[in-house]
Amino acid sequence: MLSIDALHATVADKPILKGLSLTINPGEIHAIMGPNGAGKSTTGYVLGGRPGYEVTGGSVTFAGADLLALEPHERAAAGLFLGFQYPVEIPGVSFVQFLREAANAQRRARGEAELSGGEFLKLARAQAALLKMDMDMLKRPVNVGFSGGEKKRAEMVQMGILDPRLAILDETDSGLDIDALRICGEGINAIMRRPDKAVLLITHYQRLLDYVQPDFVHVLAGGRIIKSGGPELAHQLEREGYEAVAA
Ligand code: ADP
Ligand code: MG
Ligand code: MG
Repeated sequence: MLSIDALHATVADKPILKGLSLTINPGEIHAIMGPNGAGKSTTGYVLGGRPGYEVTGGSVTFAGADLLALEPHERAAAGLFLGFQYPVEIPGVSFVQFLREAANAQRRARGEAELSGGEFLKLARAQAALLKMDMDMLKRPVNVGFSGGEKKRAEMVQMGILDPRLAILDETDSGLDIDALRICGEGINAIMRRPDKAVLLITHYQRLLDYVQPDFVHVLAGGRIIKSGGPELAHQLEREGYEAVAA
């Protein structure tokens, strides 16, 4: 599904990714862990095509296509979803409007018919229920005044509506209390744990991985994956710290 080969990228002319390689097959859940500043968020931004993140070497294929040749909206239409560490606030646009536009933009890009108002509401209600999110909450401006947990749950509602093939979730667990962590974890499992889908979880901590159990755990340091293992690697990192494990 995703094949990253010797990826190099710079931000503001500073080399951040220095030969990152990673293969993700359908049905797999991968976690990337690593110290602050390792390049975890940069990895997500580069894969999403965020302006300012320049690829200087390597290649990425996604579902058979050259991902790096696609515009960000084409990447989304191809089934890539990015959940951000810092969700943006959009005053003046309600979350339901935003979600409907996102869903219909994806459909237009795929040459599919747009959702009717009724079809969209049915879909939005089902996903909101899954994330235990009140529809009234989603009538408010995007993320404005939302708590950390509400922002992440709203983001998971968005993921459920877009129904991606691959979700890259950057620190979905940051700022979540225990209940929101469990709800988000269960949401990720319900939406994404399928034989034809895959997830890349980017996280500092093992705790999200108690809910969304990864098949593979990777340690990112210095812009490369320096170690890979199974779920036990996350526990070892939690016990011993990155430096000990990386040594
Ligand atoms: P992580 O998510 O692993 O904590 P990031 O990918 O956010 O790390 O950052 C990796 C490195 O890139 C850090 O040293 C950070 O300071 C640097 N960096 C990120 N964004 C920018 C930017 N816009 N300008 C300059 N440096 C940046
Ligand atoms: Mg960080
Ligand atoms: Mg980060």
